[in-house]
Amino acid sequence: MITLDSFSALGEPQRALIDDIRAGRAPHAALITGIAGTGKRTLARLLACALLCTAEGKRPCMQCKGCRRAQAMTHPDLLLPSTKEKDRSIKVEDLREIIRALSYHASEGTRRVVLIENAQRMTPQSQNALLKSLEEPDGETTFLLTSSGETGLLPTVRSRCRVVRVQPWSDQQIISALRERGIAQARAQELSKLCGGSLGTALDMDGDENYFALREACGRTFFSLRSMQDVPVASAHLKDKKDSADEILSMVELKVREYLLHAMRAADAPEPMAESRCHEMWLQASPRSLEHIMSALIDARKYRASNVSWQAIAEKLLYIISEDINS
Ligand SMILES: [Zn+2]
Repeated sequence: MITLDSFSALGEPQRALIDDIRAGRAPHAALITGIAGTGKRTLARLLACALLCTAEGKRPCMQCKGCRRAQAMTHPDLLLPSTKEKDRSIKVEDLREIIRALSYHASEGTRRVVLIENAQRMTPQSQNALLKSLEEPDGETTFLLTSSGETGLLPTVRSRCRVVRVQPWSDQQIISALRERGIAQARAQELSKLCGGSLGTALDMDGDENYFALREACGRTFFSLRSMQDVPVASAHLKDKKDSADEILSMVELKVREYLLHAMRAADAPEPMAESRCHEMWLQASPRSLEHIMSALIDARKYRASNVSWQAIAEKLLYIISEDINS
């Protein structure tokens, strides 16, 4: 389970914010930004729990009534825009309840949280409507805004917020988070390399069987060549994969890069893509051969852009790989 401690470990900016909130020094307004899938929403919701938690000791306890209601988004002192549709802009009328509530004191405790996810969806009018409250801390309200970028927010709004950029996750952090969710080590390792530091992307990819089918296809073709004679069969297997051509090229590129780093003694041996005899051939390839394959992959992308047929691109690449790996 992801906790505030998981986020603390990700980097200094969010650790400082978490510590301040736990210590009762919550900023009046915080804007949480970062690339998609880094857990901005989860972080904001956990912070809301921490602010509304009534337990003694380390907050949020996730057990008390405050935490449970904040988690279920039903806490009377957790104020949310009334927009329900995910993709809609947040209009002034969606903020009416929040603005009305802010003119009174918190209904239960001494803390109140205004949580606005995807704050960049607020129209300029909405942002202006909030500005007065953002400018005048009332001592009991904390604004938590999340946004995938800082564009879309008025400078006047942004400047009232403590901006915290959630750092991408490290490979190791992604692997542990995936392992906690019951994903096998080898798969977790692989996902960590592909997700660009985004746990959300890693989880999406894990649920994407198409990805693993493509991986299998790459393993069976580009990484299973024992000699030049295998090329026509491998090429035939790739024939109906035209729609996934770009994904396939990325996948091959990633793996070749791993072999190259290993050949340069900069990384451990990668996980095999195919049977061990072929894996051995790849492991014995020289950096020069692997670099040659990398540049062939770059060419392949250029050919894609200029509409050369996928079949021709794949076959050329297979021949180059065979020359470099099987010689
Ligand atoms: Zn609690």
